[in-house]
Amino acid sequence: MGPPGAGKGTQGELLARRLEIPRYSTGDILRQALRDGTPMGLEAKRYMRAGELVPDGVILGIVGEILAHEDSDAGFLLDGFPRTVAQAEGLRRLLLETGDDLDAIVDLSVPDAEIMKRLSTRGRKDDLQETIRRRLEVYGAKKKPLLDWYENSGVKVVSVQGVGDIDHIQADILEQLAL
Ligand code: ADP
Repeated sequence: MGPPGAGKGTQGELLARRLEIPRYSTGDILRQALRDGTPMGLEAKRYMRAGELVPDGVILGIVGEILAHEDSDAGFLLDGFPRTVAQAEGLRRLLLETGDDLDAIVDLSVPDAEIMKRLSTRGRKDDLQETIRRRLEVYGAKKKPLLDWYENSGVKVVSVQGVGDIDHIQADILEQLAL
């Protein structure tokens, strides 16, 4: 987890490649659905453009599909999910069904000012100043309850500063995960 523009995709991709496991990004899946013009894409669009979270039910539907077909023995990495306590609870139910377990949560933190700088040059359709501000607000409101929930559930939470050299950040993640 991490705020918009924290580098979850970049670091997640590196980590997944290194561990030879698949990476599933709910944001990427939603953007693809939007490009394909599917009913889910159409529903998600207004939330994404406004910087709001897509409803938990839609997201849990996506993740449920993924986990139902997921067969990597080595495990998998979820990027951008869960983002709310309801999603974390949904994930726990799904994992009970598949018999999988969460090894760790990686919490990537980056100061707001740095986020604003990064995203104003990225140019994605939801990277307008107003939308970025709203996404940061939403993230700020959801982050603590979610981290608390995981800490109470006894899941290992690894906190890494997402500023500086990409490879150094990755090394930091690996070190803290003890991999
Ligand atoms: P960012 O982290 O930069 O916002 P993402 O690609 O992770 O980028 O997400 C983009 C948008 O997709 C979010 O602003 C939100 O509207 C939607 N989204 C992605 N994942 C979730 C999720 N787990 N729960 C709710 N909405 C989500």
